[in-house]
Amino acid sequence: MSTVLEIIDKGTRYLEKRGIENARLNMQLMVAQRLACSRMQLYLDFDRPLKEDELSPLREDLKRRGEGIPLQHITGNVEFHNRNFLCDSRALIPRPETEELVSLILQEIKKHPALLQKESIHILDLCTGSGVIGLSLAAELPNAQVTCSDLSEDALALAKENRAELNLPHVSIIHSDGFQSVEDHFDIIACNPPYIANAEKANASQEVNHDPELALYSGEDGLDFMRQILPESYNKLNSGGFIALEIGYDQASATENLLSNAGYSEISTHKDLNGIPRFPIAHKL
Ligand code: GLN
Repeated sequence: MSTVLEIIDKGTRYLEKRGIENARLNMQLMVAQRLACSRMQLYLDFDRPLKEDELSPLREDLKRRGEGIPLQHITGNVEFHNRNFLCDSRALIPRPETEELVSLILQEIKKHPALLQKESIHILDLCTGSGVIGLSLAAELPNAQVTCSDLSEDALALAKENRAELNLPHVSIIHSDGFQSVEDHFDIIACNPPYIANAEKANASQEVNHDPELALYSGEDGLDFMRQILPESYNKLNSGGFIALEIGYDQASATENLLSNAGYSEISTHKDLNGIPRFPIAHKL
């Protein structure tokens, strides 16, 4: 009978042969998920023999991972900004950069005492997908009134499951095409929209092809959705509020122009951890 450590070693070699990056970490996370323990707990259980009924689902996971199915779709969850979220093909797999967007929004709020003094900060997460941005903000800011919206019914169903998992029943989750069905006004609008140029579809990695296309692509230069929503977003913001966006690696100056044309002030684009200008923040005075 193989032990936990032997299975991790074997699975790691299998994934490495198939060109999967971070093979050992992937294998550890799949084993931890099937044994319903944390990755750290695996270290304490290295010598524990695995029974056949534990091994056969793992073999299936390993095969799927070797075929390029994303790890997050196999384990069914993802850690985002210190919380666990359900994750599957109904919405985009949350990227690590987007956690930085959440941190930036929290920092930006602290810089604006007028916002902090409000009885309740109204926040919209437009294109919420699995809900990670809006639900993280709702969890961090107990007095905030958060709305999450998306065009995709599939994504909304997943966001609702995450809302239940995180026990945030006061967050409102609504169906809307852009701002079409958004009725309220907000102090903060956060948005990680589809922003990849259509032409890049041909170069997308196997893993990105498991994300819904709706969440990824937006016209010839990737900015079609931005052009649609930025003017409307300005009308939906309370004065003293701000918008915080995630954009593609080469879209900072184009997005800053769109923001400025929409009437925004104090526009600045923050870099992500790779040094790429990634997160424009702009204020409505
Ligand atoms: N950040 C994602 C990627 O690079 C794209 C997500 C998006 O369009 N918002 O694949």
